[in-house]
Amino acid sequence: MIDLHIHSYEEKIDFAPITDKVDLYIKRDDLIHPYISGNKWRKLKYNLIKAKEESKTHLVTFGGAFSNHLLATAAAGAKFGFKTTAFVRGEKVQNPLLTMCTLFGMELIFVDRESYQNKEFLFNERYKDFNDVMMLAEGGYGNEAELGCREIVKELTQEYQHIFCASGTGATAAGIINEVSHKNLNTQVHIVSSLKGGDFLKTEIGNLLENPNQHFNLHTDYHFGGYAKTTPHLIDFIKSFSKKTGILLDPVYTGKTLFAIQDLAQKNAFKKGDKILMIHTGGLFGILGMIEKFS
Ligand SMILES: *Cc1c(COP(=O)(O)O)cnc(C)c1O
Repeated sequence: MIDLHIHSYEEKIDFAPITDKVDLYIKRDDLIHPYISGNKWRKLKYNLIKAKEESKTHLVTFGGAFSNHLLATAAAGAKFGFKTTAFVRGEKVQNPLLTMCTLFGMELIFVDRESYQNKEFLFNERYKDFNDVMMLAEGGYGNEAELGCREIVKELTQEYQHIFCASGTGATAAGIINEVSHKNLNTQVHIVSSLKGGDFLKTEIGNLLENPNQHFNLHTDYHFGGYAKTTPHLIDFIKSFSKKTGILLDPVYTGKTLFAIQDLAQKNAFKKGDKILMIHTGGLFGILGMIEKFS
């Protein structure tokens, strides 16, 4: 059986810069599992079920040296009985996240940035003739991922006027948008790109939507310089939030998303009394890649 006893709930937050304008809730997907965290479990779940059904025994995937997806795949592989291999982008490095991957038995193959671009080739070169091997896309992107992310909305206990979620590949966003539309909720979905040039997400999200014309709000101006980039202003914001609430945010995804909520609240983009929900997509080990920024 591929399942986790997950404990993710909607927590009402008291954080004056936002909550003097609107009611703020956070869905605590960061509490799903320490290593198979947040949306990475959502995205893996149906991939792992499919892998079992197809008698696969070995998962092969791709990611950067601080990829939450790699850690989640390594931990889930160990838990559910799959061998795991990751092609890691860039020159060989050691860091705490990769050490944890190794502890979970993941095999790491470092590939230079150019070779990393051609993932099909990397996979086929080694695994073409092995039919017990399943390839998982970078970040877990795909239909199974989208399906798992619908469960975030299925679990909600009340209706919100706005739901905010961070986005990298767009799979999580697509699952949320699909389920909001499926349940006919009167909810605006806001997707915050953590990458620069986030307009590409329109296509990536659109490719996974049931109704490609489904409306959602894509915010592309809260990337703080780009993926895994940050500014002292964002770091200060994360610090003040964590100190006041006891909830950690990561600087790559969730910090930027909550910042967007605060900025829009201050620009009076919401109505007084609106209920805003941020999906805490987890990924807190992202902090480990930026410790010098926090000192
Ligand atoms: C991976 C990740 C995302 C991005 O999810 P996508 O489905 O790829 O858009 C968002 N937040 C956190 C914390 C993540 O680790």
